[in-house]
Amino acid sequence: MLVSLQANLGGDAAISRELVIERVEPAKADGTTTYKARVQNVNNDLRYEMASGSISSGGFFKAMDAAHVPDDVVQQMLSIFSGVIDFQHDIASGDRFRIIYEAGFQDGAFIRNGRVVAIELINRNQLHQALWFAPEGESNGAYYTFDGRSMKRPFLRSPVEFSRVSSGFGGREHPLHHAWAQHKGVDFAAPTGTKVLATGEGTIDFVGQQNGYGNIIIVKHANGYSTYYAHLSGFAGIQQGQRVAQGQLIGYVGQTGWATGPHLHYEFRFNDVPQNPLSIALMEAPVLTGKARQEFLGYTSTMLSRINALRTYNVLTAAN
Ligand SMILES: [Zn+2]
Repeated sequence: MLVSLQANLGGDAAISRELVIERVEPAKADGTTTYKARVQNVNNDLRYEMASGSISSGGFFKAMDAAHVPDDVVQQMLSIFSGVIDFQHDIASGDRFRIIYEAGFQDGAFIRNGRVVAIELINRNQLHQALWFAPEGESNGAYYTFDGRSMKRPFLRSPVEFSRVSSGFGGREHPLHHAWAQHKGVDFAAPTGTKVLATGEGTIDFVGQQNGYGNIIIVKHANGYSTYYAHLSGFAGIQQGQRVAQGQLIGYVGQTGWATGPHLHYEFRFNDVPQNPLSIALMEAPVLTGKARQEFLGYTSTMLSRINALRTYNVLTAAN
């Protein structure tokens, strides 16, 4: 007979929510058994896991698999660097990465992965490093460079979601921005149905059809910026006037309008004048100041020594 049953209801790396169903003792006088259910929080043992590797000709996802980087950690990596790296086009053979992330365990058994706490990516010989940091008393943390500059940018590097499906498409070709003067945009080749993301926070200014553009979405952003997403196969349930967050799904790649194959035509305008989005996407990043900066520097020195310890360990392993 069932005495008790436990089920994991989720939670995060640090805490699990558990459903516990227990038999009530003693049984009732008439012999029937009753059960009581409750939900309890259980602290997990938090460990730091590390993964590192390099990108070979097999591409980004193959390299992540080879280094046993869990999918949810890969997704975090894409998100952390989304303001500075277009993973589909910028990642190159020879790039290297090192990731430290939290993982929750109970009685030695793995429960789930948590947040990436530190990450390093050397992309085309350029070093990118990020640390998770939540200023004291603030529930919202964010990723910062080791010198306290936010990793967040007003616009994503790419309006097209990078996934296992889209990664093989287009090879190592860069987005097409030939004939810039006539074209006024950048074309991102991707299979029909690939997710199109709002590159910045804003308001939907137009959803519908326009000559040549086919199905198009125009998003209006602060400070005179707007972005255009054209030739879409469909819209993701958005309406004119609606607010959208950075990275929010707004539509799907297609070839409506004047398009010879499936691709996203992306325009980036300032005061309605088209700009080259590849040169503008890296603009300003806020720097931590005051008390938060002091806290951050204290935190980074601890975290840096941890990373450096792991680095030594890694080098020794490699040499053996
Ligand atoms: Zn185009």
